[in-house]
Amino acid sequence: MEEIKIPLRAKKELDKLLQGNKNFVNGTPTAKNMCLDTLRKFAFHQEPYAVVLSCSDSRVVPEIIFDCGIGELFVVRVAGITAGPNVIESIEYAVKKLHLPLLILLGHDDCGVMKYAKEHYPEKTEDFQSIMSCVYPVLDKNEDITCHNFFAQQHTYWVEDVLMNKSKIIKNAVEKGELYIAKCHFDHSTGLVNLI
Ligand SMILES: [Zn+2]
Repeated sequence: MEEIKIPLRAKKELDKLLQGNKNFVNGTPTAKNMCLDTLRKFAFHQEPYAVVLSCSDSRVVPEIIFDCGIGELFVVRVAGITAGPNVIESIEYAVKKLHLPLLILLGHDDCGVMKYAKEHYPEKTEDFQSIMSCVYPVLDKNEDITCHNFFAQQHTYWVEDVLMNKSKIIKNAVEKGELYIAKCHFDHSTGLVNLI
């Protein structure tokens, strides 16, 4: 894990989510806020404590793998955690309006977007152009990548760069110590979320 100091509020939430992931892996989930009563409690407001940028992949379900219930996570899901304009603005909303201290970038193994990009790079494909335009820069810098999982991790680092370069709201929040970006990788075979 990197040496950057994690702001206290973000560390508390990150520790909670990593413990939740251990609960999931151990088959001892504790999430209780999954009922209609919880939904009613939050009928007119929300109080999540982290924003998660996750892949749309059906196997990567943040609330389940972090052992969370309704109202805990502000989740942005998009194929390949690709950071296009709407995705960036969704995260900005979480930072600026909901004042969330923690952003988790949740890449994962066996990601279909990484496989597709690797198969077609550097071709400008007819389909998925905006998604590929978010992923190809990683291959521009690492053309010899053969492992999709390593590719996914490099892509997660790249997404952090994109967010910092394209979003003043995110950059300012990070520089002021109000937001911490945790880069994570989810492994399907173990269920573990690891910081990278
Ligand atoms: Zn994926």
